[in-house]
Amino acid sequence: MRTLEQLFLDELADINDAEHRLTRALPKMVRLATNDQLREAFQGHLDETEQQVKRLNGVFEAFGKKARAKKCEAIAGLIKEADEIASDNKDCPTINAALISAAQKIEHYEIASYGCLVEWAEQLGNDEAVELLQATLDEEKSADKTLTGLARQCCNADAEDGSVDNGEERRTHKGRGMRPARSRN
Ligand code: FE
Ligand code: ZN
Ligand code: FE
Ligand code: FE
Repeated sequence: MRTLEQLFLDELADINDAEHRLTRALPKMVRLATNDQLREAFQGHLDETEQQVKRLNGVFEAFGKKARAKKCEAIAGLIKEADEIASDNKDCPTINAALISAAQKIEHYEIASYGCLVEWAEQLGNDEAVELLQATLDEEKSADKTLTGLARQCCNADAEDGSVDNGEERRTHKGRGMRPARSRN
């Protein structure tokens, strides 16, 4: 019979592998982004990701275990898709919007994983683990919000401006530098 602690530790090994893969994938996204703010956002999240790996070591420790990793098929797949969408949009005005979409899929996967891990650590009564995992969950949520902000502020409009040539029918809101956001998180 498997215990909740075993389930928790397996999922921890999965996200540990995912974060390691992301420390290798993010530098490529930094290089591919042609928008300065997006490049900074990716670089900033790469720095955070390196800290997240250290935090995961702390979580294993909080359970008296040695850190381990187990291949995360989902993140490996999402990184593969990110590579694909990046090469499809390379040297196009859509590149930054494309990179944002790929990155947000990754952040959402991480948010789901850390959300479960926080709940399980709480259930298991390990306060130290809860604190570490919650800190990373907050960073993933904030990274996701930053990406939505950049998409609205410039990257989606830039993608459209470069590919559509009819100023009349443009649905972007250049003047305010942001499309109006209603009832969206
Ligand atoms: Fe992460
Ligand atoms: Zn996974
Ligand atoms: Fe897909
Ligand atoms: Fe992340």
